[in-house]
Amino acid sequence: MSTLTLKLYPSWDTQKSPIPPRSRLYNLEPIGIGTPYVESLTSYVIRLAEQHCITTRRLLIKEIAPFMGREPKLSNLRNERNESIGKILGVNRDRTATNGTGLMATNLVRAMSILTKRTDLYFLTLRPWEKVLSKRDLLRHERVWCPSCYQEWRDTNKSIYEPLLWCINVVQICPIHHHPFLSVCPHCLNQQLVLSGDSQTGHCNKCGKWLGSYRYKSGGVNQMKKADEIAWQLYVNHELGELIASAPTIISPIDSNRISQTISNFINQAFQSNQAALSRAISVNQATIGSWCKGKVIPQIDKLLLLSHQMRIKLLDFLTTDILFFDNIACGSSTNQAEQPRKSYKRINSERKQVLNIVLQEVINEYPPPSLEDVAFRLKHYPLCLQNHFPELCQIIKVRHADYKSVSRQQKIQPILELALQEFPPPSFLEISRRLGYKNNSYLYRYFPELSRSISKRYQEYNNAIGKKKRELVCQEIQNVAQLLHSQGQKPTQRRVTQLLTKPGVMRNLWVRSYLREIRQSLGYD
Ligand SMILES: [Zn+2]
Ligand SMILES: [Zn+2]
Repeated sequence: MSTLTLKLYPSWDTQKSPIPPRSRLYNLEPIGIGTPYVESLTSYVIRLAEQHCITTRRLLIKEIAPFMGREPKLSNLRNERNESIGKILGVNRDRTATNGTGLMATNLVRAMSILTKRTDLYFLTLRPWEKVLSKRDLLRHERVWCPSCYQEWRDTNKSIYEPLLWCINVVQICPIHHHPFLSVCPHCLNQQLVLSGDSQTGHCNKCGKWLGSYRYKSGGVNQMKKADEIAWQLYVNHELGELIASAPTIISPIDSNRISQTISNFINQAFQSNQAALSRAISVNQATIGSWCKGKVIPQIDKLLLLSHQMRIKLLDFLTTDILFFDNIACGSSTNQAEQPRKSYKRINSERKQVLNIVLQEVINEYPPPSLEDVAFRLKHYPLCLQNHFPELCQIIKVRHADYKSVSRQQKIQPILELALQEFPPPSFLEISRRLGYKNNSYLYRYFPELSRSISKRYQEYNNAIGKKKRELVCQEIQNVAQLLHSQGQKPTQRRVTQLLTKPGVMRNLWVRSYLREIRQSLGYD
């Protein structure tokens, strides 16, 4: 028997839910927020233009300008090309501040946020660090790029963009590929502005050609010779990368007073209140240090890095945390000496010494031979302490380990060199050395003379062959062009021939001009 029961249904809300306002431009997601490789604001503008299939100029003039408070002047801007962009941004040719800490970045962030309805564009600039980063020499004035990064992104179908890190002046090498940035287009030899009406990601602003390549790797490293220079650059990259990455997660307010406080504390603790000692340690004059301590001036970015390195704290902590005590202080000495642990000479009683002696004797017969650092770690002593008490045994341990390392390195290197001999096009010997992590090729030449010579020779021969082939092609073309002009009744002068060449630049070579002279003579001129 069924009983009739009434069911109660929830009432329907028949009101239409409000549709949130649409953004004028795509709500394009910025690349890499919260990572060291976050995109710069200028890069975002350029990418957005590309997404809308318009030029950066058009985006800036038509869409962004009205929100930058620049409307009234627009009517007479339409015809001016480069200058108009500068006027919209509120600067002349120096557009670097677009990614910086000042008003220009704020204005552009505001305009772009209105247009895209995004709230995170602030992190594409250095605005979050406005209070603690000095504007002086902070950003570079021209556009730079890492050709390997571009090429790699293209090869792996990733978006091409320009990281904010590339804009910072003190960052001089790519943190991924470790070679210096390029700032001159290899095709048209021009430098470029950070943002222009013709900006395109990964391409030259001037000639429009693709800027990515793996070719510039070895050429770049040559410019940066010293290992400590590279080590410093990697440190700079790391510290600034961390700073940029942490911007979205910073909670405590950033305050420039903290810097002067930290520096004063540091001088008091590490240098017994002696400003001159810090001045010597970081090579900055004392008056400047005085004005930092009084909070009159914020140290420039390069000096901030020197200081945080000297204090052995992270730059991020330096700028965001109240540091009252310094643990591993480098007391007035240069930073290299500070790497050594200080407690190395602690006393060892005679019993312990006997035990250690027996253990070290055992270690000498161990295979594979451990490093002195490993042994010291196992025995819970500092390497320097062991060395102090057992100089001979430690010497043997070090030599055995070094020999072992060099043999195993050789076993690893040989097959790589042999493979290089089969590579095509033949790599240069320097390139191979670099791949193996050597700064120059003397090590490889010493231990693998035969293979090294073969690799060099092969590269040389290949290059010669290529050069010869190119010359032949050039000669052939010159001959053809000269013949053509001759058959038209025109004298094949240098100017006429040059105009008809596919690569007119070759005429700059002496041998090309003298070849043309020969051809002319053979045709009965001169
Ligand atoms: Zn790179
Ligand atoms: Zn170019």
